[in-house]
Amino acid sequence: MVVTAALEVHELVKAYETGGNGLRRRGTPVQAVSGVSFAVARGETFGIVGESGCGKSTLARSIVQLHPLDGGAVRLGEEEISARARGRRLAVRRKIQMVFQDPYASLDPRMSVNAILTEPLAIHGLHRGGRDARVRELLDLVGLNPAHANRYPHEFSGGQRQRIGIARALAVEPEVIVLDEPVSALDVSVQAGVVNTLADLQRDLGLTYVFIAHDLSVVRHVSDRVAVMYLGRFVETGTVAQLFAAPLHPYTQALLSAVPVANPVIERRRRRIVLEGSVPSPADPPSGCRFRTRCWKATELCAQVAPPLEGEGGHAVACHFPEPRAAA
Ligand code: ADP
Ligand code: MG
Repeated sequence: MVVTAALEVHELVKAYETGGNGLRRRGTPVQAVSGVSFAVARGETFGIVGESGCGKSTLARSIVQLHPLDGGAVRLGEEEISARARGRRLAVRRKIQMVFQDPYASLDPRMSVNAILTEPLAIHGLHRGGRDARVRELLDLVGLNPAHANRYPHEFSGGQRQRIGIARALAVEPEVIVLDEPVSALDVSVQAGVVNTLADLQRDLGLTYVFIAHDLSVVRHVSDRVAVMYLGRFVETGTVAQLFAAPLHPYTQALLSAVPVANPVIERRRRRIVLEGSVPSPADPPSGCRFRTRCWKATELCAQVAPPLEGEGGHAVACHFPEPRAAA
C-alpha cells in the first residue's frame, strides 16, 4: 500500500539574480536552494534546521509558491501545485499556508485584526455572510480574546502578534502549514506557549507542519523527523531519535555539540566541535561536498564528488565518510 504524502517536495531549486541592473545587464544567478527533496505524511511535523543564510526561508517561500521555482516540483496530496493553471492554483494554494518569522513585519500595521483575518476569507470566497463569527472563532482557536478583533497589531505583544499570524494562516482551513522560524523573534518566556498552541492545533485540526528553526532544541521538541540543511542542500535527514542520538554527518555533529546539556556532569564533559571559518557564499559554493571547506574529514574525493543523500531505515546522510558520534 502506498500512502500519499500530504506534502512532497522534489528536487526543488531556487536561484536569485544578483548584481544585474534589472534592464539589459542580467545578474549572476545565486542558487539559494540547490535540489532539495522530502515528503511529509499527514499529521506529521517535519523540522528543518540550519545556520542563517543556508536557504531555509527561500525553501519555505518556494514550497508555498510565493515565488516561482527554478526547478523541481511541489505536490500536495495528488496535485502538483508548482504547475497549476491560474484558476486551479488559488484552490490548491488554500491548502498550504505559511507563518512568517517576524510577526512585526508580517502584519500590516494599518489593518485591524478583523481586517487581517477577513482578507484571506475574501480572497478565497469563504464564510460569506459569517466572517465576523469566523474571525472570533479563529481568535479563540489561537488563544486570543475574540473581543479584541477591532484592535490593531501594535496593541498586542510579540507572542500575541504571532498568534494573529497563525490565525491568518488557519483562516482558510489549510492542510499543510510551513512555519518559518515562528518563535525565533519572540522572548524565550513566550516561545513555549506559542509552540504548545501550535501542537494543540495540529492535533485538533489534523494539520501537517514543516517547522523551520535554527534552534535545535525547538526542532527536537516539535518534530517527528528532521532535516539538517547546509548551503542550499539537505546533509542529513532522520527521525528525531536517529538524528539526535546518532548523528552521522560532521555538520550535524558540530551543530549538536553546541547545544548545552541540562545535566551539569555531562555538560562539563561535553566536547564541542568548533567549526573553522564561516558558511561559504552560495554565489560561489565549494566543488563536490559543500561542507568540505569546514570539515575535518575532507579528502580529495570530497572536493571532486558531491555525496548523495542516502541511507537506510529513514536515516539518510550526504557524506563520503559517515560515522556515528555520540551527541554528548
Ligand atoms: P535562511 O532563511 O536560512 O537564513 P535565506 O533563504 O533567507 O536563508 O537565504 C539564503 C541565501 O539567499 C542567502 O545567501 C541570502 O543572502 C540569499 N537571498 C535571500 N533572499 C534573497 C533575495 N531576495 N535576493 C537575493 N538573494 C537572496
Ligand atoms: Mg530565514
